[in-house]
Amino acid sequence: MKKDFYEILGISKSATADEIKKAYRKKAIEFHPDKNPGNKEAEENFKAAAEAYEVLSDANKRAQYDQFGHQAFQGGGFGGGGMNMDDIFSQFGDVFGSAFGGGGFSGFGGGFGGGGREARVKGSSLRIRVKLTLEEIANGVEKKVKVKRKVQAKGVTYKTCSTCNGSGQILKITNTILGRMQTAATCHTCGGAGQILDQKPSNADAQGLVVEEETVSIKIPAGVQDGMQLKVSNKGNDAPGKNSIPGDLIVAIEEVEHETLKREGENLHLDLYISIAEATLGTSKEIDTVTGKVRIKLEEGIQSGKILRLKGKGLPSINSYGTGDLLIHINVWTPKTLNREQRQFFEKMLTDDNFKPNPEKSDKSFFEKVKDMFS
Ligand SMILES: [Zn+2]
Repeated sequence: MKKDFYEILGISKSATADEIKKAYRKKAIEFHPDKNPGNKEAEENFKAAAEAYEVLSDANKRAQYDQFGHQAFQGGGFGGGGMNMDDIFSQFGDVFGSAFGGGGFSGFGGGFGGGGREARVKGSSLRIRVKLTLEEIANGVEKKVKVKRKVQAKGVTYKTCSTCNGSGQILKITNTILGRMQTAATCHTCGGAGQILDQKPSNADAQGLVVEEETVSIKIPAGVQDGMQLKVSNKGNDAPGKNSIPGDLIVAIEEVEHETLKREGENLHLDLYISIAEATLGTSKEIDTVTGKVRIKLEEGIQSGKILRLKGKGLPSINSYGTGDLLIHINVWTPKTLNREQRQFFEKMLTDDNFKPNPEKSDKSFFEKVKDMFS
């Protein structure tokens, strides 16, 4: 059973971003590997705190976690899971700030003194676009996409790079007036992987990689917007070497325009056209919503420009628990041509008091309605 992220950081569910950061900083210092050398439990706590912070410090991820718990980040969802020490330091270094005197993490990652450091390189990211309909955005959807990834070829073997002895870095020691200085540069032989190709099948490239098509399943949460990017860990390109980590798959959301519904944040708008006869006599109409068609009733004498609000028939918000509304704009269609009989009818109505505009206070003007909608 995985521990609750809020519990790990010792904060309440309503903690502010600042409180989350402070709580994480406290835990990170408490369990920091420099303070707890060789202590496995401290290392696990340190990683757990970093994982909790990764999620809770990101408004989108936090909202998902609040809604779905740990499930939100399993099976090809967002980031989460399986962080290593290098990731933690590279992502959250700023949180530690000066707590460790300028970021000297001798025990891990950037430390060179300990020896036996193994290089870890990450493969490059892949980008794809996923087209979603408003209906899919409303409910959230699992999409299976075909991705052409570079993966290590079957039968490929790597051996330790002799230039850097597997560290992926070349250390240079120079004598300066301040004493001996140690600087590190990426190994030019292995490109930082710590390993070089030993044997490869003929179809593989110089790094021992081949392109393979893979079907990746992506869970897309409800409420996403055009242009948003989701990250699926480990589904980008592989990198060479035994200890390498695959890159990320970046999924860009593209919203397909709906035939009748227009999106505005979480609200949806629909222009509904009715005839003069329908407006006068009242009618019922079938309209599109993102959860299927519904029939709405229009009272007799409905005015053009009226806006009907269907509560909760909009889109869910990705950041909060709310759901938007569907706003139906009534447009009375005036015929452009009339036959003789129709013309005679309307001519007669020109002098009919019943056809004279007589707006009541409740028949707000268009501008007042728009003002109401946004207040
Ligand atoms: Zn090397």
